[in-house]
Amino acid sequence: MLKVYNTLTGKKEAFKPLKDRKVNLFVCGPTVYDFSHLGHARTYLVFDMIANYLKETGFNVFYLQNITDVDDKIIKRAEEKNIASQQLAEQFEKEHLKDMEELKIKSVEKYAKATDYIPEIINQIDRLMEKGFAYRIEDGVYYEINKFKNYGKLARRTVSQAEDGVSRIDEGKNKKNKGDFCLWKFSPSGAGPEEPKWKSPWGDGRPGWHIEDTAITEKYFGFQYDVHGGARELIFPHHEAEIAQMEAISEKKPMVKYWIHTGLLTINGRKMAKSLGNFITIRDFLKNNQPELLRLFVFLSHYRSPIDYNFEKIKQAKSNLKRLNEFYKKIQEKTKKSEKISLKSSFLKKYLKFLEDDFNTPKFFSAIFDLIRKNNKKIEKLSDKEIKEIYQLFLFIDRVFKIFPEEKEIPKNILDLAVLREKYRQEKNWQKADEIRKEIQSLGYSIEDTETGQKIKKIS
Ligand SMILES: [Zn+2]
Repeated sequence: MLKVYNTLTGKKEAFKPLKDRKVNLFVCGPTVYDFSHLGHARTYLVFDMIANYLKETGFNVFYLQNITDVDDKIIKRAEEKNIASQQLAEQFEKEHLKDMEELKIKSVEKYAKATDYIPEIINQIDRLMEKGFAYRIEDGVYYEINKFKNYGKLARRTVSQAEDGVSRIDEGKNKKNKGDFCLWKFSPSGAGPEEPKWKSPWGDGRPGWHIEDTAITEKYFGFQYDVHGGARELIFPHHEAEIAQMEAISEKKPMVKYWIHTGLLTINGRKMAKSLGNFITIRDFLKNNQPELLRLFVFLSHYRSPIDYNFEKIKQAKSNLKRLNEFYKKIQEKTKKSEKISLKSSFLKKYLKFLEDDFNTPKFFSAIFDLIRKNNKKIEKLSDKEIKEIYQLFLFIDRVFKIFPEEKEIPKNILDLAVLREKYRQEKNWQKADEIRKEIQSLGYSIEDTETGQKIKKIS
């Protein structure tokens, strides 16, 4: 039975979704104004692992993530670059998705861009106004935090402990409480294209940050759902604000059954910051390293613990990755590959119990390294049954953690030759086409003509 640590209750709890084996999972996505960095990667790798784990253990997961494409930071950066904010957001949304793909994150079912949900956002603000939780002043519409009885229940803060918003958008001279946050900001007069705006019943403007998440989750999941994830830094005020908005509207609590938060990633013991010059983007990391290395590096720490990125730790992850790969290859050579994993096997259960305990990946991998140490030198002596059990365990690791390289893709020079061959075929130059086929073969690939085009395969 899976147990997860729930930030809302401060306890490890048995994991039981609201409805059978269906899990609705929402994770706060990036604000797209720059390349995503290793801190982002950590959070998204953790939730990818969690989603993969849930799927492999029989849950039916819908993983939703938002993309914040309207925000102070985007507007500021667009101003500096003298371009429209939508253009900047679109560019970095693409870069982010490219990074996620490179990191082999495929579990997200839907990426929802905030600006695609303006009617849903306006509709939520409208209901908050109607219920008396929101008020309009000269620069926007704000949420009145002292109207919500349970304000602070996630972060364990009181209304008076809520500082002014972390973001420029939440500043307002005539707010009722200093912690009141913006739901809708009116456009300043004479604003340029760097400042996006939409029509609303209260005036032209743009949405606040917190309201986009609840508008998107209500649209896909309704008033209540199973898991909300994100980085620890988002607990306050962002996630607290989400609860205040949604539960005020729905009068149903809790909005989210399990709140799961990831720990901080530091670089050589210091917080990552542009000003410290220790800002490592995912793109930079992948220039010299395999995605599998970052994945394993992240999973060697518990998701709630802080991780320090430093030379020693990366070196260690590298040698661990090599050991895992070499051992898995030896096991693969000894067994017939199959697709099935029997979760009921008592051998597998011995290892899965670490993951069932709030995804304790460091304990899980240390048990795996013990297994390798014990068996590495005597693989020849293992029985078929033992080989099969180990193979299934590693297949599970492959699917959940994705730390093993994928089957090699067809290299570009082979693809180029195939294009050239097709051109000769179109011209009915059979001799040339056949010469190229032979050349492709000599490079280790076979080529076949099918109804849907050429099919290239590595000759094994
Ligand atoms: Zn969010």
